[in-house]
Amino acid sequence: MDKSYDVVIIGGAVMGSSAAFWLSNMDAGLRILVIEPDPSYAKSSTALSVASIRQQFTTSVNVNISRFGIEFINNIDDYLGQGGEISSLGFQENGYLFLAGTSAAEQAMREACVMQHAHGAQTELLDPQALKQRFDWLNVDDIRLASFGPRHEGWFDNMSLLGGLKKAAQAAGVTYIKDHAVGFGAENGRIKTVTLAKSGTVNAGQVVSAAGTGANKIIGMLGEAIPVEPRKRTVFMIDAPNAIHPDAPLMVCHSGFYLRPEHKHWICAIVPKDDHRADENDFDADLTLFEDEIWPKLYARAPGFDAVKVLSAWAGHYAYNTLDQNAIIGAHPNWSNLFLMNGFSGHGLQQAPAVGRGIAELILTGAYQTIDLSDLNVERVLEGRPFSEMAIV
Ligand SMILES: Cc1cc2nc3c(=O)[nH]c(=O)nc-3n(C[C@H](O)[C@H](O)[C@H](O)COP(=O)(O)OP(=O)(O)OC[C@H]3O[C@@H](n4cnc5c(N)ncnc54)[C@H](O)[C@@H]3O)c2cc1C
Repeated sequence: MDKSYDVVIIGGAVMGSSAAFWLSNMDAGLRILVIEPDPSYAKSSTALSVASIRQQFTTSVNVNISRFGIEFINNIDDYLGQGGEISSLGFQENGYLFLAGTSAAEQAMREACVMQHAHGAQTELLDPQALKQRFDWLNVDDIRLASFGPRHEGWFDNMSLLGGLKKAAQAAGVTYIKDHAVGFGAENGRIKTVTLAKSGTVNAGQVVSAAGTGANKIIGMLGEAIPVEPRKRTVFMIDAPNAIHPDAPLMVCHSGFYLRPEHKHWICAIVPKDDHRADENDFDADLTLFEDEIWPKLYARAPGFDAVKVLSAWAGHYAYNTLDQNAIIGAHPNWSNLFLMNGFSGHGLQQAPAVGRGIAELILTGAYQTIDLSDLNVERVLEGRPFSEMAIV
């Protein structure tokens, strides 16, 4: 292995691989190393995601990030070229449907819709009657307003996105090594070296932290901290023979659960009432959540879910930003060559194309050239200033 790299990226799942792809795409001469301990990605958020994308956010920057996300997903072969070895991510454009049950939520939905339209999203507001007309299997009695995104929203193949970015980066000369980053050599506000658990030390020109739930451990090696911790999310795959609606959108109910079709079945999840920092090794699905929390709410919303069988369940970890559940992206103010791609909570997969491109622009030119991601900067979390996104799932 070479001992000196222009850029060392810690974490090689979707964020690290996106940064590697864009950097190698923008400057073919760069020597780039990606450190990733688990090439199976079995415990990564990327692999355990429900892999959906929407334009319906309440901040302009998140809408713009997802607008580019869908552009990239729909044209992945053009963006990645032959090196990506992929022609399609199988995008299922069923849309997202958010339900509002209070006047405050209705007002927020109306305001968000105006902003989303200004950025090119095709969000439709549906009153209860229009909602019933469109989705007659829903109970709309307690709904004040719904927000539906029929275009550019749906779900796609998460592992093919990761695989395509990684293959394209490798084809462009990026080196992936199976190892852990365990330390830094740093002086005068600059990282000089990165220490790997098995492979010794490498010299680093620039360093990118894309370690998912491990973000705080990485920054902790410099005596710093950011408000990111693992939070467990259990996802259920269910069969509901009386509820066959393959064209259904991903529905986010105001009662807290979300649901979407997956081939002939359904996927659903809910934020647990007692949501807390997860043990980083605890990937046991919380099986009682379905019967205790999701099913009563689901049946109240759609009576067709009267007979349900849980087929399987899995648990993944959000890299949860406890300050504002938004991404933490950009240069670290205390370390002149450290860049963070952290804290994506529940919406990082769709953000990977735009965020990887943004980090590459920042490293190579010193500024964002396409989407301005500075609302999501590192300074705000260090100063405890939330940048709030209301549409958090
Ligand atoms: C249940 C669930 C559902 C989700 N649904 C969606 C969705 O519908 N849409 C959406 O956009 N997002 C969704 N997300 C969020 C999304 O999956 C993540 O935000 C995104 O995958 C984050 O990617 P990442 O590369 O930052 O992190 P990860 O995928 O977690 O990857 C981090 C990588 O860093 C590596 N690493 C850790 N420590 C070190 C170290 N010391 N040295 C080197 N490498 C290290 C790990 O091995 C890992 O491979 C969901 C997440 C979960 C858990």
